[in-house]
Amino acid sequence: MKYLDEYRDARIARALAAEIRRCSSRPWVLMEICGGQTHTLMRYGIDELLRGSVELVHGPGCPVCVTPLELIDRAINLARRREVTLVSYGDMLRVPGSDTDLFHLKAEGGDVRIVYSPTDAVNLARSLPERKVVFFAIGFETTAPAHAMAVLQAERLGLNNFSLLVSHVLVPPAIRSLLRSPKNRVQGFIAPGHVCTVVGCRDYEELVSEFRVPIVVGGFEPVDLLEAIRMLVIQLEAGRTELENQYVRSVQYEGNRPAQAAVARVFEAADRKWRGIGSIPKSGLFLKPEYAAFDAERIFNLHDICAQEPPECISAEVLLGHKKPTDCTAFGNRCTPDKPLGAPMVSSEGACAAYYQYKRHLVTL
Ligand code: SF4
Repeated sequence: MKYLDEYRDARIARALAAEIRRCSSRPWVLMEICGGQTHTLMRYGIDELLRGSVELVHGPGCPVCVTPLELIDRAINLARRREVTLVSYGDMLRVPGSDTDLFHLKAEGGDVRIVYSPTDAVNLARSLPERKVVFFAIGFETTAPAHAMAVLQAERLGLNNFSLLVSHVLVPPAIRSLLRSPKNRVQGFIAPGHVCTVVGCRDYEELVSEFRVPIVVGGFEPVDLLEAIRMLVIQLEAGRTELENQYVRSVQYEGNRPAQAAVARVFEAADRKWRGIGSIPKSGLFLKPEYAAFDAERIFNLHDICAQEPPECISAEVLLGHKKPTDCTAFGNRCTPDKPLGAPMVSSEGACAAYYQYKRHLVTL
């Protein structure tokens, strides 16, 4: 297939779904990692189309959802400082902290600004030399190269009023932690195609051989996802566990070497806390000591700010695939996109928001 609309072709999608139903001897439990994939599955009703043949559970692949509450509180602490201009992607502004969110602080006069790229944040620091510009750098392996480039650009420009509040997480350690959990039900994974476009396939190959679990690197359109599911079901039915690449139009085995080099120059891996889940070994990226001058947590001494997650929010169980958003007692009543209790209801990529938007709570089983 050559064109995007072919990846949304209903005739091809129905044929793939029929083949999955035909191949499947039992309801296999499969997890997509990326929140973008979750939304496609919900939007096109693929979960319902495959009911009885495949159970889809939704992984911790939404960067906003896994950013710990204390990092939101640290961003809010920064935004309250007179000398700071806090810069972020739009989604982060609505994520509730312990007592407020960045949107409310902005409405109250805080200097909080939305950007679409870290380069915009660097340019802002250049144009506002009297301000301390802090960029809230969140994301997975996909955004890390651009954030690394922003640091390198700021260094080259000699900016001493630009820093990052870093909340970077890595997908493979999260899958490893999930597979080690005694509560794990997942039998196959759709790996995030955009992440693999950057980092390549090697880490996922290691997971396949370590845990004997099939993984298919998948794209983001309905036909991509149905094809990835079909590849997983065929492997599971045949008792095979291999890494396969459905998203060949974007992912190469080695990934994007220049992007990997930029990340390796600026960041290093260390243990990182995930929202609700807790600390996962070597699952985060942190600025290397030689780039400490760009580390907002160090500059503004934020390490002591800690927070407790709201007990009502079961986002950890949702993000680990143990429960569905509709299992949460707050879903759709005390927690809605207009008044979210937890991050998975805020983000456009969150599983709870997807269930709400596509009305899964109204589906009669
Ligand atoms: S519905 Fe709201 S409170 Fe429940 S898990 Fe999702 S985000 Fe948390």
